Amino acid sequence: MASEFDFDEAPRCLRPFAVHQMATAYADDIFSSYTLACTCGAREFQVFDQRHDDQFSGVKLNCVTCGKEAMLFDGTVDGYDGEFGHLDAMKAGAVTYTPVDDGAIFSMLIAVFTFNTDQGELTDLARDSGKRPIDLFDWFQLVEDDRDLPFPKGGDTVWEFECA
Ligand SMILES: [Zn+2]
Repeated sequence: MASEFDFDEAPRCLRPFAVHQMATAYADDIFSSYTLACTCGAREFQVFDQRHDDQFSGVKLNCVTCGKEAMLFDGTVDGYDGEFGHLDAMKAGAVTYTPVDDGAIFSMLIAVFTFNTDQGELTDLARDSGKRPIDLFDWFQLVEDDRDLPFPKGGDTVWEFECA
C-alpha cells in the first residue's frame, strides 16, 4: 500500500523555529527528529515549562540572542490528544511559565516526535479526520545532545509529554 505519510513536512508546532530534520528512524516505533534554531539563526535558548493550573502542558523557548519567545509545544493543541481536543478541559486553567533548570541556557536542542501507531493506520486516521499524519504524534521530547545521531539514544531529556 502506498504511504501518504510525508516526513518531509515538519509538525505544525515547529513553524516558529528554523529546523533541520535530522532523521526519520523506523524501529518498533517511528521517530522523527529536528535540530532547533531561532529564526535569527541562534541556537541558544532558555526553556520554560508551561502549566495550566499545576499540570504541565507545554514548553516555550526564549532565544537569548534576539529575545524572541515562541511556544515549541503545547499539549492542549499539539500532538494526538491536542489535535483531537482531548485536553480541552485543561485550557480553562491559569497559565504559568517556569524556567527549566533555573533559567540555564541550552544550546543543542533537538525536538523528537514519536509515533506508536502503525503507519497505514495513522494515514487512514488522518485522512478520515482531515489532519496531517505528521501532526498526530504520540510522544514529544525535547532533548539536549551534541551528537548527530539518527534519533537520541543517550541525550538528556529536557522536557517530555505523552500526547496519546
Ligand atoms: Zn533569535
